[in-house]
Amino acid sequence: MMLTTTSTGYDDARLGFQRRDPHRPEVIFPVTSADEVQEAVRYAIAHDLRIAVQAAGHGVIEGIEGGALIATAGFNGVKVDAERRTAWIEAGATWRDVLTATAPDGLAPLSGSAPGVGAISYTLGGGLGLMARRYGYSADHVRRIEVVTADGGRRNAEDDPDLFWALRGGGGNFGVVTGIEIDLFDVPTIFGGSLYFDLAEYPDVPEVWRDWTRTVPEDVTSAIAILPIPDFPQVPEVLRGKYIGQVQLAILGDRGAELIAPLRAIGTPVLDTVGELPYVDSGRIFAEPERPDSYTSRNVLVSNLDALKTLPGPDAPRMHVIGIRHLGGALARQPEVPNAVGHREAAYSLTVLTPGEAATPRDVLEPWREATVGRALNFTFEKLTPDEIAEVYDDYDRLVELRRRYDPQCRLWANHQI
Ligand SMILES: Cc1cc2nc3c(=O)[nH]c(=O)nc-3n(C[C@H](O)[C@H](O)[C@H](O)COP(=O)(O)OP(=O)(O)OC[C@H]3O[C@@H](n4cnc5c(N)ncnc54)[C@H](O)[C@@H]3O)c2cc1C
Repeated sequence: MMLTTTSTGYDDARLGFQRRDPHRPEVIFPVTSADEVQEAVRYAIAHDLRIAVQAAGHGVIEGIEGGALIATAGFNGVKVDAERRTAWIEAGATWRDVLTATAPDGLAPLSGSAPGVGAISYTLGGGLGLMARRYGYSADHVRRIEVVTADGGRRNAEDDPDLFWALRGGGGNFGVVTGIEIDLFDVPTIFGGSLYFDLAEYPDVPEVWRDWTRTVPEDVTSAIAILPIPDFPQVPEVLRGKYIGQVQLAILGDRGAELIAPLRAIGTPVLDTVGELPYVDSGRIFAEPERPDSYTSRNVLVSNLDALKTLPGPDAPRMHVIGIRHLGGALARQPEVPNAVGHREAAYSLTVLTPGEAATPRDVLEPWREATVGRALNFTFEKLTPDEIAEVYDDYDRLVELRRRYDPQCRLWANHQI
């Protein structure tokens, strides 16, 4: 099936989660199989159209104008092999689809904070999940990738070491992925949730969390969000209108309560959602909003959090949401089959997100210049300069050379263009 701008369903098919600059393609292919993906790519080649791909649409930073959009949301099957502890995921499956399929066997994927995110889009950008310090990036646990390259050919990327390396971390620059096989882990439940502190009462929460992260084992993956909560009726009353430090916790093993004691010792949070929960419900840990929205962000990977005090606070002229995730552990180690994910030496990921249409100011991360070692693709919702994109990777030149090899005409409208 092909939709044009006047077809019924055109808007439904082109609009994803991120609404700031949605795709405006000439034609849309709402695909349901690898054959249809290949047909769509061949149509685009024959008509000399650029190709954008959209799964759940959280990542769109610059919508395609004209061209072809391959919309994969309806191509979302998940097949679990409980014995081998693997899952085959089709192009448009969200983490929610994967979690639902793996939970009955007590198995868990390396999913992230928001279950509505596309599992393959996330993994192509690296994929920093709830068990990241224990098991590494989602891209580190990909066994096979099926892809339609920009010449319209179908390939098994694992048979081509260059393509397999580039796809795992290099984003949507090297082909339209139709499915991937990932590792699963024996994690039926996890100890997790959030401690929401009122920063007016406990202004030192970010520093206490930072100092605590230096002491924890790899079983602990955590983050902090510093966020002004709007005074809206859909927000829990205890949070409304407050400036909150939300400590987000995901802990494997049975020492969770003991390990977070220093955080609970800070004082009484306005809301405490931490406890043992089925991994299938792990979206409750960060409890991020699920309605489509507009936002921009800038991200840096840093070696330390010495500049914490310089972050915009409640008096900042514009509202920002700060998200800091603790890295290290398995994230710092190369996987058995190396991939393009860069800057494994980083200790934290720091994102400044600006809700609405306005761009996140370029200077907001200026105080972090000295600590910055790189950037993360997945947490950048804004167009980067070529130099900034190069800072995402350890071996950008190799990626540039491989882009020339696999997509010499730059037909793919990758979210962040290499
Ligand atoms: C609320 C929220 C929470 C998040 N949490 C995390 C997190 O915990 N960890 C993390 O690492 N990231 C996280 N992200 C970032 C997220 O992983 C990326 O934005 C991801 O790209 C979104 O996937 P999507 O399918 O929703 O987006 P889409 O906009 O549909 O896809 C993004 C891009 O991926 C590429 N792409 C998608 N499908 C294919 C395909 N089949 N073949 C080739 N290229 C393809 C395209 O270039 C596309 O533009 C989060 C984002 C949001 C908004």
